[in-house]
Amino acid sequence: MRLHWHRRDLRLADNRGLAEPADPPVGVFVFDDEVLAHAAPPRVAFMLEALSTLRAAYREQGSELLLRRGEPTGTVPDLAEAIDADAVSWNRDYSGLAQRRDDHVAEELKDEGRLPRPFHDAVCHPPGSITTTQGEPYAVYTYYWKKWRDREKDAPRSVPELAGAEEVPELAGAEDVVEVDVAPGELPTVEELGFAEPDAAIPTASTEAARELLESFLAEDVLRYAEARDYPAEACTSRLSPHLKFGTVGIREVDAAVRERLDEVSGEERESIETFRSQLAWREFYAQVLYYNPDVVTENYREYEHDIEWENDPDLLEAWKRGETGYPIVDAGMRQLLAEAFMHNRLRMIVASFLTKDLLIDWRHGYAHFREHLVDHDTANDTGGWQWAASTGTDAQPYFRIFNPTTQGERYDPDAAYVARYVPELRDVDPGVIHGWNDLSADERETAAPGYPAPVVDHAERRERALETFERARGEGGT
Ligand SMILES: Cc1cc2nc3c(=O)[nH]c(=O)nc-3n(C[C@H](O)[C@H](O)[C@H](O)COP(=O)(O)OP(=O)(O)OC[C@H]3O[C@@H](n4cnc5c(N)ncnc54)[C@H](O)[C@@H]3O)c2cc1C
Repeated sequence: MRLHWHRRDLRLADNRGLAEPADPPVGVFVFDDEVLAHAAPPRVAFMLEALSTLRAAYREQGSELLLRRGEPTGTVPDLAEAIDADAVSWNRDYSGLAQRRDDHVAEELKDEGRLPRPFHDAVCHPPGSITTTQGEPYAVYTYYWKKWRDREKDAPRSVPELAGAEEVPELAGAEDVVEVDVAPGELPTVEELGFAEPDAAIPTASTEAARELLESFLAEDVLRYAEARDYPAEACTSRLSPHLKFGTVGIREVDAAVRERLDEVSGEERESIETFRSQLAWREFYAQVLYYNPDVVTENYREYEHDIEWENDPDLLEAWKRGETGYPIVDAGMRQLLAEAFMHNRLRMIVASFLTKDLLIDWRHGYAHFREHLVDHDTANDTGGWQWAASTGTDAQPYFRIFNPTTQGERYDPDAAYVARYVPELRDVDPGVIHGWNDLSADERETAAPGYPAPVVDHAERRERALETFERARGEGGT
């Protein structure tokens, strides 16, 4: 008997840890309080729905997904003992917390004579497999990407045979190790796990839903992805991020479908698909950055000579969080986050630059807010994105390249359609007025959109201040 411990692989198809060992597994998911301490309502809701569909898929095959609550160290080995499993498989997670947890579980299993079987599953190319010629992990994306693109990829794994529930008579007896504080076999609700129901509508969380997204994206949007992906009103990106985070779809399955489409087209369409693949490679680049540098969650990857003197004004931070900075494109992004638990990538870059450069607020505050609200929050990608914007990351935006929020709005939302979607006060305002909001007088603003705030800071002034701050951190000039 083998136990498969699901974590961020909430699916049966294309699941290496589930499929590769020959013996049919019985599945378990453990509600881990240490992981839940970093969770947020949208992700808990997504995870519970994904678990519910995963359990239905197990049952359709005459098997069962067991549920436990507690510390995995202890819970997983106890369950392995209760069902007399000789091996426990799982798919690796690359954060420091996950690695420490998995090492403990592996040690406990070994002490009891059971075999721990960790697999690389979440990425096409695991950390350490794409390195510089000196064998070092890459800190520059471009070189990593070229190798990632050209390296052969594994084919998707099929759904394995699962252990029949009747083959595991001990399961009934194993109820005494149940620590889910609801009826055995029942999924807890969002509230029972200690969270409020999310305010935002959550995308459907299942393999089927992920496949539908992938299929419709590959049919059309991927062909214009290269030119349209930066225009938030177009909404032409895949929206696969929560599925890749929770593993409701396998990366080999995604990659194989993308490559199949690549072979069907040529010229600009082919380049557009390659641009999409390069985003999948960013995800794996950041996974290896996190794996080799677990501290990037709390510490700057790139140290300056002196500390960056963040100003951390609490009122400005609140205005940013609420989407009330008086910079329409920034506010639209922040309000999309609150309304949908999601934000378009161009907006993530704009609002992160605005927080760290215009407001001079430490990226860790922005990261914490994203973690609290994003359905797709992923430690590697989120720290990667924040540290990029703050000019503290591996392959970061140079500190002197500071986004101008007005120009960004004009360029990427020329008709202000995205702003109008999320900022109701500006819905009936002419795009020209929206893009010139910081040039208007108080009276003109009051007439155009009563109630919508004046800019909380002056971008030109703050840009200079940010440059001075970063130059001081670099030990250059300034007082
Ligand atoms: C400040 C900041 C914070 C971010 N936080 C997260 C996060 O918590 N979780 C997250 O998945 N992405 C994060 N991103 C990256 C990116 O914004 C999202 O992956 C993307 O918007 C998700 O939408 P999509 O699935 O439609 O993307 P698509 O454009 O369709 O891309 C496909 C997939 O590629 C990956 N991807 C795309 N862009 C990036 C990128 N820049 N870095 C790493 N992977 C990428 C994602 O898995 C995404 O689902 C962040 C970016 C920034 C600038």
